Amino acid sequence: MIKNHSDLNFKEIFLPYLVWVSHLYMVGILAADESTGTIGKRLSSINVENIEENRRSLRELLFCTPGALECLSGVILFEETLYQKTASGKPFVDVLKEGGVLPGIKVDKGTVELRGTNGETTTQGLDGLGQRCAKYYEAGARFAKWRAVLKIGLTEPSELAIHENAYGLARYAAICQENGLVPIVEPEILVDGSHDIEKCAAVTERVLAACYKALNDHHVMLEGTLLKPNMVTPGSDAPKVAPEVIAELTVRALQRTVPAAVPAIVFLSGGQSEEQATLNLNAMNKLKTKKPWSLSFSFGRALQQSTLKAWAGKTGNVGKARAAFLCRCKANSEATLGTYQGNATLGEGASESLHVKDYKY
Ligand code: 13P
Repeated sequence: MIKNHSDLNFKEIFLPYLVWVSHLYMVGILAADESTGTIGKRLSSINVENIEENRRSLRELLFCTPGALECLSGVILFEETLYQKTASGKPFVDVLKEGGVLPGIKVDKGTVELRGTNGETTTQGLDGLGQRCAKYYEAGARFAKWRAVLKIGLTEPSELAIHENAYGLARYAAICQENGLVPIVEPEILVDGSHDIEKCAAVTERVLAACYKALNDHHVMLEGTLLKPNMVTPGSDAPKVAPEVIAELTVRALQRTVPAAVPAIVFLSGGQSEEQATLNLNAMNKLKTKKPWSLSFSFGRALQQSTLKAWAGKTGNVGKARAAFLCRCKANSEATLGTYQGNATLGEGASESLHVKDYKY
């Protein structure tokens, strides 16, 4: 549907599409698209059974938190959730739309190992993707997510993994745009390892440069995409550094590789604690330097951890769980403006590292 800047249907197609794109990063995005397996791990951490009703209840708790949708502009859903309803029978898609939030959809089908590599992966899901995108658009989705995963090791990421994942992301993005969905391009470099922050910066630059080469090769209209990268940080087994250092090296890596045509960069939290992820985003937005894109969030774990703990699967805890969720939503929306004072009431677990080795989403 949308080809490129010279598309003859500029007014009919290009402009309405860009209106959604600009809506999407007005504040930030909640990633609530955990697959059935991943949400199962979250639920088991609070001793809740992984059945459809419990998955639905958790999502209702999040989406129906009074005031939360004002701090969000998009929510990424897993396919099951796209078709679910509140207990009183209202489709989640309508709840989000009425709250001024765009529904999005995870369209990748997870990762498989790349033969002959040291455990590197490629992401599956391109077969039949066009038909699935059309179906999800019909159901109300307006944007999509595809997660590619890379890792840092002595010889990783390999050229093969960088190339394969970049072209997978680009092909996915082109198919989304043909079907009217805004693609979020997510090349996640895992935090696992003992490397320092400079190593992470160098790898992030190599990976992002390859992604933008592939996106251009595939004629993806960059104005109609968002980037969802990792922040540039030291490895999980290396000494920590201050948010200001993370901000400086992350923004420098982005300046070197992400074209100004890309409207917004929405970070994943990647196993950082809730508070750390917010402080790092805030530091980036406070940084005085060239930033042609909006810098915002598309957090999963860093928006949900204290909520999950407060809820513990009990109806009687819904009120305090919602208070925890609203607190993180507000803190992150302030961080998009660089005005977060570090004063969010920290819920249980807000400062806990959420790192899980070899994380699968
Ligand atoms: P985290 O913020 O938990 O890393 O997840 C975001 C996401 O959507 C990963 O694909």
